[in-house]
Amino acid sequence: MEWDAIVIGSGIGGLTAAAALARCEKRVLVLEQHFVLGGMTQTFERQGFRFATGLHYIGGVGPQPGAAGSFGRLLGWLGDGTQRFAPLPTGFDTVRLRDPKRPEGEFRFTFGAPEDDNITRLKALFPEDVAGLDRYARDFKRAARAAKLMFAMHGLPKPVGTLLGWLRGGALRKAAQVTLAQALADIRNPTLRHLLAARGGDYGLAPAQAPLMLHATVMGSYTHGAWYPIGGPQRFVESLGATVRAAGGELRTSAAVAGILVEDERACGVRLQVGGTERAPVVISAMGAANTAAALPPETAPDWQAEIRALKPSGAYVALYLGFEGNIRSDSFDGANHWIYESSPDALDWQDPADTDAPSLFVSFSSLNDPAHTGGHTAEVLASCSWDFFSRWQDSLLGARPEDYAATKSWIEERLLAQFKRLFPTLADRVVFHELATPLSQAAYANAPQGAMYGLRMTPGRLLDPALHVRTPVPGLYLAGQDVASLGIEGAAMGGFMAAASIKPRLWRQMSR
Ligand SMILES: Cc1cc2nc3c(=O)[nH]c(=O)nc-3n(C[C@H](O)[C@H](O)[C@H](O)COP(=O)(O)OP(=O)(O)OC[C@H]3O[C@@H](n4cnc5c(N)ncnc54)[C@H](O)[C@@H]3O)c2cc1C
Repeated sequence: MEWDAIVIGSGIGGLTAAAALARCEKRVLVLEQHFVLGGMTQTFERQGFRFATGLHYIGGVGPQPGAAGSFGRLLGWLGDGTQRFAPLPTGFDTVRLRDPKRPEGEFRFTFGAPEDDNITRLKALFPEDVAGLDRYARDFKRAARAAKLMFAMHGLPKPVGTLLGWLRGGALRKAAQVTLAQALADIRNPTLRHLLAARGGDYGLAPAQAPLMLHATVMGSYTHGAWYPIGGPQRFVESLGATVRAAGGELRTSAAVAGILVEDERACGVRLQVGGTERAPVVISAMGAANTAAALPPETAPDWQAEIRALKPSGAYVALYLGFEGNIRSDSFDGANHWIYESSPDALDWQDPADTDAPSLFVSFSSLNDPAHTGGHTAEVLASCSWDFFSRWQDSLLGARPEDYAATKSWIEERLLAQFKRLFPTLADRVVFHELATPLSQAAYANAPQGAMYGLRMTPGRLLDPALHVRTPVPGLYLAGQDVASLGIEGAAMGGFMAAASIKPRLWRQMSR
């Protein structure tokens, strides 16, 4: 066979798996259905403006020793040594809650690092909830520790995982059921409850659905600060891709995998949509668990396929990409993200984008955080929304969507732009470029079922599901990416790394670098 391994999908999960195997002298073929590499770390350019897609900030890549900086060290070892990260401002997440009683019409609080400092400032603002905040901070830390163990169980070799399951399985199952809403129940002040839940868009769930473990993992990743890749998220492809190529591998675009080949009950390659096959003794699928199950012959591991099919996709979103004229950096715009709520955190999804304003928005000014940024300044405006609204056009093709879709899309774009201008009046006259992406864009460019933003929905059941182990029941077929352990750049990368380490166990040693 020409290749030692085939990796399906060139997102951070696939790239990490491929680079890790390349570090073990393996020749890896990475196949990407899109004409651009990188999955959700891809960037695109319009009229001189460069936009990021699925990365606005990450944690774990700072200079801290120990676990706090281990993700950055791992990426450094896997890549070609050229990737660097720039810190966001110390206060990197500004939450803005509508409050008509205040003269400026909203209540603002900026979360930053270290995490304990957030709690101290919140206690000063909400003295009646000091005890509740202490309890929340304690539960948060416990949940983050438990989550680490639970995520590891999706990748550990079966005997170790089984032993861990016997020892801690019951406690983990119980811990996974606790929602963020339950953890906040003791907080008396509703504004404080809302503030603590306001960044749920980072994992796409309202407090009543979000496992505290997930909330603590994602928020906890920013305990020591937040960073942005210098040169933009496509630097991951350049840096990790260089390692793959140096070991004799290849990264191929416009190469959609139509099926996974199984012979003698073992995965042995893939069938390409454009025709032809590629063969290798190992196939790592980083295209999402649902796509993986759908690519298998129906008679291969049917129970596993049914279990994966039963898991729901995460929510969808629309994105408005904005380009500005001039320098937008100021005291108000220093690179911090803005989390804006026009109603309660439970109303996360925009149910009717054609007739109402979005109930909540996430606005990121990525260009301000990239010291190597070229071109005009940009913002990405994201709103969680319902797939159902867009599903009527799901069978139409990219580039040939019907007129009513184009009209609705342009109406939503104008509406969202007007909402942005109302919320950012000082930037209103500077907008010179805008373009909307809908869940159909995500479905087409990332092959994401139902335009899902974060792969599978992170319910307690999904967190614990043994079907989402890097080792599938099909020998030679491994799962990687965000559907294994956790969503997010670091979570998806760890999913990829654990898949590679299951094939080359000496890689596990690199986890403790
Ligand atoms: C709008 C948005 C903002 C985000 N912001 C952040 C953030 O600020 N920080 C953070 O940590 N996380 C963020 N995330 C989450 C993060 O981007 C993802 O969790 C992570 O990138 C997923 O990586 P992955 O490799 O698992 O999947 P993907 O990046 O989706 O990669 C999967 C790849 O598989 C390819 N593929 C699918 N089917 C096939 C096929 N049949 N054949 C070949 N290739 C195929 C796809 O085209 C895609 O390239 C964000 C996500 C979104 C959508």
